[in-house]
Amino acid sequence: MSDNHSHDHDHGHHHHNHNDFTDYKAAVKAYRDSFASKEDVMNDAPDPAVRDMVRYMDEQGVENCFDRFDKQKPHCTFGLAGVCCKICSLGPCKITESSPRGTCGADADLIVARNLVRAAAGGVAAHGARAREVMLTLKKAAEGDVNLPILGKRKVMSVAAMFGLSTKDKTVEELAGEIADILLEEMSRTVPGPQKTLQAIAPPERQKTWEKLDLLPVGSYHEVFEALHQTTVGTQGDWRKVMDQFFRLGLAFSMNSMVGGSIAQDCLFGMPQRTTVKANLGTLKTDTVNIAIHGHAPMMATMVIETARKEKFVKMAEEAGATGVQFYGVGCSGLSTLYRQGDVIPLSNANGSELVIATGALDLWMTDIQGVFPGIIDVANRYRTVVVTTNESNRLPGAEHIGYRRELEEMDKLPELADQIVTRAIERFKNRRDVKRHIPPHEVEAEVGFNLNTLDHHYGCMEPVASALINGEIKGIIHLSGSTNTRIVFEKTIVDIVDILLKNNILVFTNGCASFPMAKLGYCSTKALNKCGDNLQRFLKGEIPPVWHFGESIDNAHAVGVFRAIANYSGHQMKDLPFASVTPEWFNEKGIDEALAYRMLGFDSYHCVHAPVQGSKNVQDFLYGGTTDLLGSCMNVDTDPQKIAEKIIADFNEARSNLCWR
Ligand code: SF4
Repeated sequence: MSDNHSHDHDHGHHHHNHNDFTDYKAAVKAYRDSFASKEDVMNDAPDPAVRDMVRYMDEQGVENCFDRFDKQKPHCTFGLAGVCCKICSLGPCKITESSPRGTCGADADLIVARNLVRAAAGGVAAHGARAREVMLTLKKAAEGDVNLPILGKRKVMSVAAMFGLSTKDKTVEELAGEIADILLEEMSRTVPGPQKTLQAIAPPERQKTWEKLDLLPVGSYHEVFEALHQTTVGTQGDWRKVMDQFFRLGLAFSMNSMVGGSIAQDCLFGMPQRTTVKANLGTLKTDTVNIAIHGHAPMMATMVIETARKEKFVKMAEEAGATGVQFYGVGCSGLSTLYRQGDVIPLSNANGSELVIATGALDLWMTDIQGVFPGIIDVANRYRTVVVTTNESNRLPGAEHIGYRRELEEMDKLPELADQIVTRAIERFKNRRDVKRHIPPHEVEAEVGFNLNTLDHHYGCMEPVASALINGEIKGIIHLSGSTNTRIVFEKTIVDIVDILLKNNILVFTNGCASFPMAKLGYCSTKALNKCGDNLQRFLKGEIPPVWHFGESIDNAHAVGVFRAIANYSGHQMKDLPFASVTPEWFNEKGIDEALAYRMLGFDSYHCVHAPVQGSKNVQDFLYGGTTDLLGSCMNVDTDPQKIAEKIIADFNEARSNLCWR
């Protein structure tokens, strides 16, 4: 059974139904050997500003995530393979050749599946908690508990119609309140019943498929609860059943956390607009009060931007010797505010935040929730950037806290809190004029804010896009998202894959953390049309960029809306079309759910990072191929971006030939 070196993979497939230890150990070690180093980032990162900043920090002796990643080497193979179990105190247990089961008797399949489900539950909770805050804010705004206008009036009306609410004699505020109640109830319910959002949004074919497989979720809260329940010691013993709970998490994530959160946000703040901005570090000014917006929940950021535009603060900034207050976006809150309020310059995703701070150009760094690495504090101290946390779920020792209280109490104090933050930024500007600035001179233009509304405005409807897909001007469309991962040269596989796909006439939708390299390297501009194949160029007509930027991470909901509209015009199901989800450099728990949510919809997913499943041949085979029969989709992983791009092209060609399209 345990032939050491001479085994061949095909042969391995036939029998071993328990874990083949030798197999996984070699695979994980080879994977570990492929990990990038800081040196690689300095030499090969596609963004010259990134290479510059990593080198500069190195010279300055300031540590960042690339240093810390290198210091973690060699990475623990048990952890990487997913076969380390710390669920109970009979452990920790690890699967080795001589200990193929944990103390309780759990084997590699069960341990790997349980770990994966717990990570997915974390992702649902993260996006869900953020969505809940927005829903709750919408409710408070609707009921007059907080003085925020409901800006998405048209969205409120369309969602009311979608939910079948009677609109007679009701104000927009009343309807917004009812919508918030529905969204909150669906997310948190304990009593099973139909999910209105799912029924209204998901294609009927999908709903039948999920129902047949018994995967319909009760709601996000319950499915996270049940995932934690099933994975406690001595509970669910069947790894395949654990994977069913994994699927339910994927649906809860997409219906409540993503779609629900997106609906609430559009109702509250209005639909994103198309706008063109400058991007990358070269945009950093030295004569303005510079505030970074970092995180994932844009409520406070929205208020702070409005506040800084008030006469009083414009004057205060001038008196301090600045020409104004400028906002910069790091991560999703920055994107969210950018395409709704304008004039927020996108700089980096969360993983590059230390590089941004090290420019010395930021006076105040405002964070809300998620993607906030504790490592930023040391860098901020070094350059005397004040870090302000605004959310009780996301505090940092060493930061100043200016936020509303837990459970969103005193949200009506938002304007005062925003005043304090802007005042603090101006003060800090005055007191850190002597800090050395290092600003790499790279900046480009980026167009952002694509969604069904803005695209309908451009094309009239999605019919021209569907026609271009059918006639082959567009070979296929990918949704590019996820984050960046230190295992890979920062942003490199994202760029490499997109370069190959554009040449092959594949259109790219993007949003969230993976969209930053696209925005700051010029892909979200019509200037990037020369990167495309002839057919795609013909379709884009020099009017529209080849990479359509949809905004922040939850705008996956908007991207799926466009995929669905194209599918409707094509007369086919989304799952049968040349559509794919591509998250080459995902790293966090939400990244697991995001790709899963797409697979639930029938999109294949593509990655250059392995999930921690290599320790179980059964779970890995199931996830990487075995789900096709159930869901019509599977997960493709290869550390080589060229191979991933080729696989996408081959799969799109196959989908097209199945549809009898050329
Ligand atoms: Fe070990 Fe089982 Fe406890 Fe996990 S649940 S730590 S495998 S005894």
